[in-house]
Amino acid sequence: MSKKPNQQPALHKVIMVGSGGVGKSALTLQFMYDEFVEDYEPTKADSYRKKVVLDGEEVQIDILDTAGQEDYAAIRDNYFRSGEGFLCVFSITEDESFQATQEFRDQILRVKNDENIPFLLVGNKSDLDEKRKVSLAESSARAQQWGVPYVETSAKTRDNVDKVFFDLLRKIVAQKAAENSVEKKEDTAAKNCCVIM
Ligand code: GDP
Ligand code: MG
Repeated sequence: MSKKPNQQPALHKVIMVGSGGVGKSALTLQFMYDEFVEDYEPTKADSYRKKVVLDGEEVQIDILDTAGQEDYAAIRDNYFRSGEGFLCVFSITEDESFQATQEFRDQILRVKNDENIPFLLVGNKSDLDEKRKVSLAESSARAQQWGVPYVETSAKTRDNVDKVFFDLLRKIVAQKAAENSVEKKEDTAAKNCCVIM
């Protein structure tokens, strides 16, 4: 497909979910601005937009960094509905945050109603391995059960930060392409049907 000169690159909407304090904002800000922000306002949700080159093509990523208002079901559902891909974050140093990922997964599936929604399970704070409470085996098993990738990151050292955002973007692009081809097939089927009639 040729692109018109003034056309904006494709926009992909990513949502950061997970318990408070796991590093959703730190990951977002590290990805956006290449810096580790240690004391970002814990109750502040914000959205960010950036142009990136994904496998040779320019795209725009829109990141919604959620922050607890999602306790209100209606607000949360609205957030989740707008998302095309999810980074579900916990801290490897806090088992409770790992347990909470199940609830986020359930809420997202309920709202999106799609088992194949682009989704990564992210174990953050990998630089604090000496304080690890969640084993690699445990988190990998959960990811496998959900049929999603598991990646450990450090917003502090930047380890795997680009990887989780880019891997998720690739999944979103693939998902949109698949949906498009289904639509086209349906379109063709509809036309064929009319010609016959
Ligand atoms: P959020 O509530 O999920 O947005 O969490 P924040 O991004 O505000 O991070 C909570 C705390 O964990 C802050 O003090 C961060 O400095 C710290 N933090 C976040 N990510 C990491 C990380 O990868 N490694 C370490 N050591 N600390 C982190
Ligand atoms: Mg935050």
